[in-house]
Amino acid sequence: MPSAIVAGAGIAGLTAALALARRGWTVRIHERAARLETVGAGIQLSPNALDVLDRLGVAVGNVGVSADSVLLRDGPTGRRIASVPVSSSDGRGYRVLHRAALQRVLLDAVEAVPAVSLHLGQPLVALSGEPTRVRAEFAGPIQDEAELLVAADGVRSETARLLGFPPPKAAGATALRFAATADPPTAAIEAWLGSRRHAVRYRIDAAGAQNLVVIVPDGDPTLGPVARWDPRLVSCLAEGRPLGSWPLLEVEPRWRAGSALPVAFVGDAAHAMLPYAAQGAAMAIEDAFVLAACLAGAGDRGAALERYEALRAPRLRRVLSRVAFHRRVYHLPRPLSYARDLALAARSPASLRRDLAWLYDWRAQDGAQPGGLV
Ligand SMILES: Cc1cc2nc3c(=O)[nH]c(=O)nc-3n(C[C@H](O)[C@H](O)[C@H](O)COP(=O)(O)OP(=O)(O)OC[C@H]3O[C@@H](n4cnc5c(N)ncnc54)[C@H](O)[C@@H]3O)c2cc1C
Repeated sequence: MPSAIVAGAGIAGLTAALALARRGWTVRIHERAARLETVGAGIQLSPNALDVLDRLGVAVGNVGVSADSVLLRDGPTGRRIASVPVSSSDGRGYRVLHRAALQRVLLDAVEAVPAVSLHLGQPLVALSGEPTRVRAEFAGPIQDEAELLVAADGVRSETARLLGFPPPKAAGATALRFAATADPPTAAIEAWLGSRRHAVRYRIDAAGAQNLVVIVPDGDPTLGPVARWDPRLVSCLAEGRPLGSWPLLEVEPRWRAGSALPVAFVGDAAHAMLPYAAQGAAMAIEDAFVLAACLAGAGDRGAALERYEALRAPRLRRVLSRVAFHRRVYHLPRPLSYARDLALAARSPASLRRDLAWLYDWRAQDGAQPGGLV
């Protein structure tokens, strides 16, 4: 049985461990934190991510709540601009939940698989090896050795640093996050758009807990004018409990095919992105599935890793370009925002949904064709 080391037990690491174990690998996850705490806030899971979780047998159907659309509003006035459906063309839904709840169901799924073990309080500190074998050292010191190392250690990836990749870059924006409870009227994810700022709110459980995030520029990381925007948003901010601020970081995608070590990057370690398309966790989940599918039964693991990267790189390029598009369009100042609003209001919900079909209609098997690996 081949064995893999996974560095990091976030969404990417847990999904990768599960996907590899389902393909016959023995997996040892080494996580830096001594305890897996309820870090993070709300997370959106689009149909492409839900399809992978289904195929891996991870039940998220009872966690969080479903959302049907993104309701775009003008930030200052609250005027409705357009409603973008978020289900896929084949009717698969969209879920919104707390990141900790997602981590919990992944953890439960991992703990039910004897081939996976989880080791907490073990940060990766050194790497060595050859093309078919990797040796990793974790603080302790603890040594581990395997045929593959999956770098799932997040945007500030130590694996990337040890392999000589540049550090992440500040993206010029900060996320201010709040936990709120006022019950919004619909199953929509609401987004208020404004010059250099936007806010997003959605329910994350059946009891009415809400995630509220305001994206602000780094130069002025305060609510600023948002504190005087749409009264619905302002009252939610007033009763919301601040969860802190997250400076947003980006990395140039990190791919390792052909390197001296059998290493694969997944999730934020591979391609941390801004949250403007709510796809960071979804891409981590897709990565994990495609990596395991490419490695399944592969005689030449180096070629399998190249195939993984060849499949993921174009998908990630397209998602990153959509993220950059949302960033420009969401943050348009007046009067350009009026033109945006008119253009969006003229579109039917069905035509707005079609714009995202390539993203939401992706299915797990797409990630492994044409090799027939699934
Ligand atoms: C404001 C905001 C909103 C977001 N909203 C969404 C959304 O709606 N939908 C969505 O899909 N995504 C969203 N994202 C992105 C999403 O949260 C991330 O893309 C996703 O959680 C990344 O998961 P990961 O496992 O790759 O990294 P992480 O969650 O960062 O996990 C990395 C793990 O590695 C561990 N680690 C770090 N260093 C080491 C080491 N040296 N050795 C061992 N372990 C180590 C860490 O402790 C951690 O447990 C959002 C992000 C932000 C900032």
